[in-house]
Amino acid sequence: MKTPFVTKDQVEKIVQTYPTPFHIYDEKGIRKTARDFRKAFAWNPGFKEYFAVKATPNPTILRILHEEGCGTDCSSMAELIMSERVGITGTEIMFSSNDTPDQEFLKAYVLGATINLDDISLIDDLKRVTGTIPKRISCRFNPGGKFAISNAIMDNPGDAKYGMTEDQIIEAYRRLKAMGAEEFGIHAFLASNTVSNEYYPVLAGILFRLVVKIKQLTGISMSFINLSGGVGIPYRPDQKANDIAVIGEGVHRAYDQILVPNGLGNVSIYTECGRFMLGPNGHLVTKVLHEKKTYKDYIGVDACASNLMRPAMYGAYHHITVLGKEKEPLDHVYDVTGALCENNDKFAVDRPLPKIDIGDYLVIHDTGAHGFSMGYNYNGRLWSSELLLRENGSVLQIRRPETIEDYFATLDGYWDLNV
Ligand SMILES: *Cc1c(COP(=O)(O)O)cnc(C)c1O
Repeated sequence: MKTPFVTKDQVEKIVQTYPTPFHIYDEKGIRKTARDFRKAFAWNPGFKEYFAVKATPNPTILRILHEEGCGTDCSSMAELIMSERVGITGTEIMFSSNDTPDQEFLKAYVLGATINLDDISLIDDLKRVTGTIPKRISCRFNPGGKFAISNAIMDNPGDAKYGMTEDQIIEAYRRLKAMGAEEFGIHAFLASNTVSNEYYPVLAGILFRLVVKIKQLTGISMSFINLSGGVGIPYRPDQKANDIAVIGEGVHRAYDQILVPNGLGNVSIYTECGRFMLGPNGHLVTKVLHEKKTYKDYIGVDACASNLMRPAMYGAYHHITVLGKEKEPLDHVYDVTGALCENNDKFAVDRPLPKIDIGDYLVIHDTGAHGFSMGYNYNGRLWSSELLLRENGSVLQIRRPETIEDYFATLDGYWDLNV
């Protein structure tokens, strides 16, 4: 069972001011998730979560997370500037990009962000662009092969475009030190959306052992180890949620076993979670416009894949609640579709749901991360609004819906053909 954080009554009130479709975020849930996360790593004095901005790039969300002690993980110019405008600068920004344009390195450097190099060739790029090597620098590791936990393959780092090999990263640290760097970090992201309390502890073990080896080979003691993102959420109602307290303790054990005996007991642990922080704390709310019965029974709603791409792109499961019918039997089977001229524009396929009527409101769950942010304009569909359910129950619009004038604002050329 998944219970929405808004009721039918609440949504009926909200739509009087803010029409569907919209993404809505739960401030109370966001703050609780951030506090539980912080508590799980409180054993590490230098711990910091750098929220992955790409998951939910909204300044209000960043501000709430900043109030809860989070920094930001940025990977583009717009994300850097959003952090800056929210007042998040300096070492509160981790710049973990790849295939990085010069001007983004420069912006990150000027902001004093900690730059996480994706490749050894970027050392020279960074030096050329900024004229120097920052005192504090990080490198991204990719062990290759397949990443498995208890023999279950979780992901395929050998196929991933990110990070450096072990030989490269050791050489990179030597060169960075020779070029004046003084404070070093290491980063790796080996598996995405892991619904397992083992992911971070296993990843930590790999990085901790490498950090010991790097110290032995180069004399460099790492200042921080960044476990990046990848802690997942249970999209399906039958999945068991990760327990962040258990995850934090697992990393603690690996820390005490590997780092402490090797004189590395002062290393700070960083994370860059997006999905875990925001995913369950967001809903896409949409209204039923049509029912169509041909070879299947279709429910047409006013949101489409351009508001939430994951089902169309990866066949991802997102749970759906029909508001006001939470207790009714799931005795109908529907495809829930949007209006795009693409047959993959389906939020659900063959989904057992209660009988749906035109005008019903649907909550599509777990859309708080990689939801709105993966939107697009295909078919001339406009971006929706984003709303925040405040802790006191009021609703704040934190991004207005896109208008037709916004859509036309970047179009040139047509008018010039007339001269
Ligand atoms: C996407 C990304 C994250 C966040 O991943 P989640 O799965 O949302 O936790 C963190 N760090 C980097 C470098 C990323 O690319």
